[in-house]
Amino acid sequence: MSAIRSISPQFSIEEAKRIALLLYGLADFVSELPSERDQNFLFRRSDGRQFTLKIANRDEAREVLELQNRAIELVGQVLEVVPTVDGQKISTIESYFVRLLNYVPGVPLAEYKPHTSRLLMNLGRLLGRTDKALASFTHEAAARDLYWDIRNADRVIASYKHLIENAERRAIVETVLSDWRLRVQPRLSELRTSVIHNDANDYNIIVNGEDSIALIDYGDMLETITVAEPAIACAYAMLHKPDPVAAAVDLIRGYHQTYPLTEVEIDLLPLLIRTRLGMSVTIAAHQKQLEPNNEYLLISEKPVWKLIEKLSSIHPRFVHYSFRNACELPPCPQTAKVVSFLARDGVRHGRVVDCDLKSERAIVIDLSVGSLENGTRDEAADVTRLTTLLFRRLDDEGAEVGIGRYNEARGLYTSLLFSTESNDGPEWRTIHLGIDLFMRADSPVHAPIDGIVHSIRNNDALLDYGPTVILRHATDDGTEFFTLYGHLSVSSLTHLAVGQAVRRGDLIAWIGTYPTNGGWPPHLHFQIITDMLERDGEFPGVALPSQRAVWLSLSPDPNLLLQIPQSKFPAEPPSPAETLAARRKSIGPNLSISYKTPLKIVRGAGAYLYDEIGRGYLDCVNNVAHVGHCHPKVVRAAQRQMAVLNTNTRYLHDNIVEYAKRLTAKLPAPLSVCFFVNSGSEANDLALRIARAHTKANDIIVMESAYHGNLSSLIDISPYKFDGPGGSGMPPRVHKVSIADGYRGRFRSSDSAIASKYAAELREVERPAAFIIESVLSCAGQVVLPPGYLSESFRYVRQASGLCIADEVQVGFGRVGTHFWGFETQGVVPDIVTMGKSIGNGHPLGAVVTTLEIAESFNNGMEYFNTFGGNPVSCAIGLAVLDVVERENLQKRAFEVGELLKARLRNLQSRHPLLGDVRGLGLFIGIELIRNTETLEPAAKEAAYVVERMKERGILLSTDGPFHNVIKIKPPLAFSETDAEILVSTLDAVLGENPVR
Ligand code: PMP
Repeated sequence: MSAIRSISPQFSIEEAKRIALLLYGLADFVSELPSERDQNFLFRRSDGRQFTLKIANRDEAREVLELQNRAIELVGQVLEVVPTVDGQKISTIESYFVRLLNYVPGVPLAEYKPHTSRLLMNLGRLLGRTDKALASFTHEAAARDLYWDIRNADRVIASYKHLIENAERRAIVETVLSDWRLRVQPRLSELRTSVIHNDANDYNIIVNGEDSIALIDYGDMLETITVAEPAIACAYAMLHKPDPVAAAVDLIRGYHQTYPLTEVEIDLLPLLIRTRLGMSVTIAAHQKQLEPNNEYLLISEKPVWKLIEKLSSIHPRFVHYSFRNACELPPCPQTAKVVSFLARDGVRHGRVVDCDLKSERAIVIDLSVGSLENGTRDEAADVTRLTTLLFRRLDDEGAEVGIGRYNEARGLYTSLLFSTESNDGPEWRTIHLGIDLFMRADSPVHAPIDGIVHSIRNNDALLDYGPTVILRHATDDGTEFFTLYGHLSVSSLTHLAVGQAVRRGDLIAWIGTYPTNGGWPPHLHFQIITDMLERDGEFPGVALPSQRAVWLSLSPDPNLLLQIPQSKFPAEPPSPAETLAARRKSIGPNLSISYKTPLKIVRGAGAYLYDEIGRGYLDCVNNVAHVGHCHPKVVRAAQRQMAVLNTNTRYLHDNIVEYAKRLTAKLPAPLSVCFFVNSGSEANDLALRIARAHTKANDIIVMESAYHGNLSSLIDISPYKFDGPGGSGMPPRVHKVSIADGYRGRFRSSDSAIASKYAAELREVERPAAFIIESVLSCAGQVVLPPGYLSESFRYVRQASGLCIADEVQVGFGRVGTHFWGFETQGVVPDIVTMGKSIGNGHPLGAVVTTLEIAESFNNGMEYFNTFGGNPVSCAIGLAVLDVVERENLQKRAFEVGELLKARLRNLQSRHPLLGDVRGLGLFIGIELIRNTETLEPAAKEAAYVVERMKERGILLSTDGPFHNVIKIKPPLAFSETDAEILVSTLDAVLGENPVR
């Protein structure tokens, strides 16, 4: 067993070329490849395939190479051994053994980004397949005494651990060694043994995308304990991860699915991973002593230390339970005993509070992410609001206790206390592990079963448990478990003593009051715990959704003791998959859904949307929620008016006239007459009718790639639709002009000279009724029109007696920052302006505003009636939106945040050539992705990848433009500078990932 390998062979490139030609007929040398121990030369065959000529170290025994060759053949994956022209798989040159293997192109796992869950699962599967193929393989050379055999841990660590200089680190390695001696060594005989690859480190795994990975370099293979294979792979896959256990869980899940691990193997895996890491750093210390000037050694051991230290802060049993869960075993093994004990004795349990939870006096309160009580992120911090809502509910229903559910995902844990960094962005603890009993402060709390006081502690940080009692109990076979009582009164702290026995029914504490109870509405948090994980005085009461099963296993349902009838609990809401299936059955199939795995969104607040497990997503696309999702002022305006009157416009009402006055005050003269409708589409349809009535002409001029709405009349004038899939081409009487895009259009430049060239096309149409155009192009790819384009083109249209319609559905109401309306940035006054989307902040509202003269022509005898358009509720909402835009200075904010965002995005361009163009006005921005700066080849696949990955990291974007290569950014104007920074840094990270590099 030697630690440091002898130096590699020293053949020159000329000699390697000669060998390759002689033995394999390969003449095309490519390069020499790095190798620690052998010499590797890359050659290309005439068909383009590449091969590695491997000249083995002189120490290498022929049998070991035969062992590798046989294993590679048995495994039968990407790697192959190629024979010489006369059929030899191993030949000899100057007493060196020579082999040829096919070259596996790709990126080593260590250099590949991102390590998605799916990639790591696939890695587990690959290793599972490898070990399964080798399960019954035997070879005399497989019994090697290799330094890197994990069974040599004791020898390796004991020999060199004294070389670790840092005392704390040395102590960690000593623990690893003693755990090995006490807990692993005695059980080695219970583990399966077989021939394994034994070195699935992150440079031996070659990645070509998350579904295409290969294992190379069989140089360390030998017969040893089989489970060393996933253990070694985990040790490397866990490096550089904010949540290393999650990475290991993915890998183990994949391995187990392909080649099931035994329960003992799963038990020992966490220790084996730590052992391998311990061996790594110990060997590194040894190597450092031999080669004190080798900087590389220092660099490569750093992340290993970081990982070992991180793992020291995670309870090993938690890791063990997580691994059991990955292998579909009950995570915490003793929980089943506790559950069956409590279920068996159910009838004899005493009350925890002085209220019969079976009676009408106890009601379930919905605190799920989408419930009203849960509140928005901002509101959740407002305990007074939550308390008022909760206790008002209790009073209204004549109830005494409000029950907050177990295993409920809640959005109200908003403090950073509840957030951690997952391997894909931040994750929030949202899953409630106890049952809450909301009751008046000072209500007594009793022990439901006999027990001993385990701890009493005041967890007095804000939003913690406050005064907390934990009791210890035992099942009839002596299995220990615990019950936790949180948010108690301060007086409860001195009522009991640790170690004191309590009997079923004993008064143990009182419900605490705000704020001494941790800062919550008065309630008891009651939780069962089957393994305290050596924690003292507290235990997590909410868990990360990604660790849900493990924590639920550690904290089974407290209703085992509380005995609240199941009939009180509402049915589980459908899972996202169930909702998707139901939607597929009963909703039209071309109503599209975003993302490969669709999101189920249950709440919105400001610039954020929340899914059913409380994950927040930064919404960068929803310009409909103009002033912020569910803006309280808009909601309140709607609620108030809805409760008083909602009817059609055939009666006099002040809302409609007040709103028309406020809206037209925002527009230049002579735009002064409003028609209210229910959507942007209805607005544009009405605008066309008005224009045709006024001009008595029929033809409409539109811009290439434009979209103006979903009505038949608008599909007919939307090239985005009629030129796209399912479209039937341009109808007669419609005229299309070139998209005035200075970046990719017919004329390319950023100066105003091209405006005239584009506008000249408008001259061609003889008798147009109207030219309809968005003031800034949206579906066409977030294109800012060249300066002067609208004034020149409007001039031609008016010369031909046509009207000019500005579609402000996407960009109006301050979004462009410098002006309230998009058309104002072009210095024009249209004849008709149409509005939608943002006008009602999500309420279906639209508007057409025109001049008195044009409105008069439309009044040609035919009545105009719209059942819902202009109703008092819609107008109240429209007024509230205008109020908020003004009071919160949202136009200014759009300008400032938009400028910052554009500047930051332009900074990214220097590092990411994929970002061809960054453009936009205010918070209406487009990023055009291209593969080549000369040809501007659109990078649609890359854009789609970026959008998917950004979603995985918690940011919502979408693509558009004729080539689907423009990323759209048009967030609610609640979007802040911090949000802009988050967007840019996440985008930067995603653009650095291999699939788009
Ligand atoms: N005009 C433009 C420019 C639009 O983008 C849209 C919708 N995307 C509409 C009109 C139609 O609005 P709605 O979908 O509200 O009917």
